[in-house]
Amino acid sequence: MGTQISITLWHSNAETAEQLLASGMAEMHRLDELLSPWIETSELARVNRLAVGLPQKISDELIFLIDKSLYFSRLSDGAFDITFASVGWFYNYRERQQPNEEKRRALLPAINYQWLDLNKVERTLAFKHKNVRIDLGGIAKGYAVDRVAAILQSGGVKRATISAGGDSRILGDKLGSPWMIGIKNPRDGGDQSSRAVIMLPLENTAISTSGDYERFFIDEKNGKRIHHIINPKTGQSAEGVVSVTILGPEGSDTDPLSTTVFVLGVEPGIALVNRLPGFDAVIIDSTGKVHYSDGLVAP
Ligand code: ADP
Ligand code: MG
Repeated sequence: MGTQISITLWHSNAETAEQLLASGMAEMHRLDELLSPWIETSELARVNRLAVGLPQKISDELIFLIDKSLYFSRLSDGAFDITFASVGWFYNYRERQQPNEEKRRALLPAINYQWLDLNKVERTLAFKHKNVRIDLGGIAKGYAVDRVAAILQSGGVKRATISAGGDSRILGDKLGSPWMIGIKNPRDGGDQSSRAVIMLPLENTAISTSGDYERFFIDEKNGKRIHHIINPKTGQSAEGVVSVTILGPEGSDTDPLSTTVFVLGVEPGIALVNRLPGFDAVIIDSTGKVHYSDGLVAP
């Protein structure tokens, strides 16, 4: 998943705790091997190679993730769209590469979730456009932390935190008090005290942050920040927002929702979250202003 994983848990039996930690890490690796676009043997890579016009049998997990992704696509009129990869595949942030104008324009019509033909009865997926590629980077980590949470819970764990990059699940509290989770202002190079813009006391929740500071480079020609959250309408990095944090019950929702709200921008993003019971958002816009959904009272 190209990210750092951390698991913290309490258990009365040290040996069981060690075993659960190992199972949690093994689960992360299993999902990486299933969902990574870069591992040639992953199910995702296989589908990208073979699904153009030809329905491919896919696993229950891939069905779940694609179905959930389509739900967020419909909810956001395509702001969340796993076919973003039709163009997104040609960005390489580490190598400072982006598709040229001509390529981006040629491939842009392939970004459209309507090209995905998911048949839940036959358990198949086909692409209805020849240039379609999918990538589950906007949902896989949230799903992974949910899976690990389920493993820990089935082993009797009541208190834990699990995180994969910007996606975390928090089980229970921290021995009688809430976990304190800070959202930092990514553009703030200032002193230590001002770096965390907001502290949230949290228990039993999922929390996902999408930021334009995770994977990016600056285009020297125009000073633009080229980062990994793509606006499906343009095939270019989404603008206007610096970070979006979403709170909700499960990572497989908060993760795609953070990406969705990032693409939608402040007003439509907050409006969407306010319509979804059980979810909240904190958005930092590109001027540094912080915006909250109705369920959070500004400090
Ligand atoms: P992070 O990966 O840093 O946790 P996000 O949760 O915001 O950040 O997910 C960003 C990832 O989502 C990108 O690396 C890419 O794989 C995928 N992605 C980018 N743009 C979109 C989009 N418009 N719709 C769906 N997925 C996207
Ligand atoms: Mg996300």
